[in-house]
Amino acid sequence: MTETADVVIIGSGIVGSSVAYHLAQQGCTNVLVLEREAHQGKGSTGKSMGGVRAQFATPVNIQMSRYSIDFFSHFDEVVGHPADYRAHGYLFCATAERHLEYLKTNRQKQIALGVDNVELISRAEIAAIVPPLRVDDVIGGTYCATDGFVDPHSVMMGFMLKARESGVRLWLDTEVTGIEVRGPQAAVGNFVPPALSGRHIAGVLTTRGFISTPIIVNAAGPWAAKVASLAGADLPVSPLRRQLVPTEPFDGLPQRFPMVIDMSTGFHFRREGKGILLAWNDPEETPGFKNDFDNSFIEKILTRAAGRVPCLVDAEVNPRRAWAGLYEMTPDHHAIIGPAPEVAGFYFVNGFSGHGVMHSPASGRITADLILHGQTELIDASQLSVTRFAEGRTLEETAVL
Ligand SMILES: Cc1cc2nc3c(=O)[nH]c(=O)nc-3n(C[C@H](O)[C@H](O)[C@H](O)COP(=O)(O)OP(=O)(O)OC[C@H]3O[C@@H](n4cnc5c(N)ncnc54)[C@H](O)[C@@H]3O)c2cc1C
Repeated sequence: MTETADVVIIGSGIVGSSVAYHLAQQGCTNVLVLEREAHQGKGSTGKSMGGVRAQFATPVNIQMSRYSIDFFSHFDEVVGHPADYRAHGYLFCATAERHLEYLKTNRQKQIALGVDNVELISRAEIAAIVPPLRVDDVIGGTYCATDGFVDPHSVMMGFMLKARESGVRLWLDTEVTGIEVRGPQAAVGNFVPPALSGRHIAGVLTTRGFISTPIIVNAAGPWAAKVASLAGADLPVSPLRRQLVPTEPFDGLPQRFPMVIDMSTGFHFRREGKGILLAWNDPEETPGFKNDFDNSFIEKILTRAAGRVPCLVDAEVNPRRAWAGLYEMTPDHHAIIGPAPEVAGFYFVNGFSGHGVMHSPASGRITADLILHGQTELIDASQLSVTRFAEGRTLEETAVL
């Protein structure tokens, strides 16, 4: 007998799990999640820094963060599993007038959208929050106390466990190898919308056989473009390596302090247990499926770290504890959420460009709304449609870390 599902979700990371949860919450429980790995969290979710913030530059990202951070603050009661949300804040430090102006402009947008606790703060206030910081060149910054951190693995597990309680099925060790599309093929170079072309999803081919379904959600993280191509759909998502370096136990910084972002270099850091987690976006990194940690990164990041936090020269680093993972980048650094134009019944929830953990509650909700109702009240979802690239409606998020 052919296996069937009302909705098949490809990928069981934090995003696929959130979509499953939100579908189930709205009564859609004949859902099958397919994951090629033997465990959840082996993709980007398990590599994340767990940062959550509302301090963005575009309204849609601010709206998605606002919904998501509020969700995280109630996650434990609502989902029945810990999110480990810690409201330790994000502190942006400006050393140039143009950076301070940028923070002020963003703050106005954030306040207008209801994030009214973003504070403009002085050099002296910054020094009081993180005394070991070198602030001689800092001219001010912004701080939002409800920004902070979550445990990405725990959030993912919480979403999936709750979805499974409602009847959602999760198949591990199951790779999607093909997508069956039925209906006439649109002429090459002459786009015909799916409603006219009649092309629609019929099922997925997997290493465990064929599954018949009218709806597929692509939640394949950095591998999303490959999955889209199985249905003949174009998706501009490319993998970009990100590397994180934890220090050994270090007490030269306070036990509790915010995520600190040095805007002069992009270096940022936070406490992780007894040590400090160091992050920096290396501009020399090039797209590709590179999962290996490059030891030469350690010297690069420690140079930036010591420049802003001189006492970090005393921190010990074990290269074997450092790791690399993949961001899923889009050309305008915003997620792609919504139906694929080429094939009816095929939905994207991809390309979070470094923000997939923090935006997982909103993206799961938006995707479930679009599948079940064709619209969502959360945001104007047309902004995140993949058609924005062909139609010249790209968004530009400059607050990418
Ligand atoms: C170093 C690093 C730090 C980060 N820090 C942050 C941060 O501080 N805050 C934040 O919000 N975000 C952060 N991110 C980004 C965040 O981790 C991602 O945006 C998010 O995890 C994406 O989740 P996902 O579920 O879409 O993808 P993934 O977690 O990658 O899940 C996709 C799943 O799809 C499966 N899959 C793929 N192809 C197939 C197939 N053909 N068949 C079956 N299964 C398949 C994969 O095995 C995988 O499990 C960071 C990322 C990295 C790498």
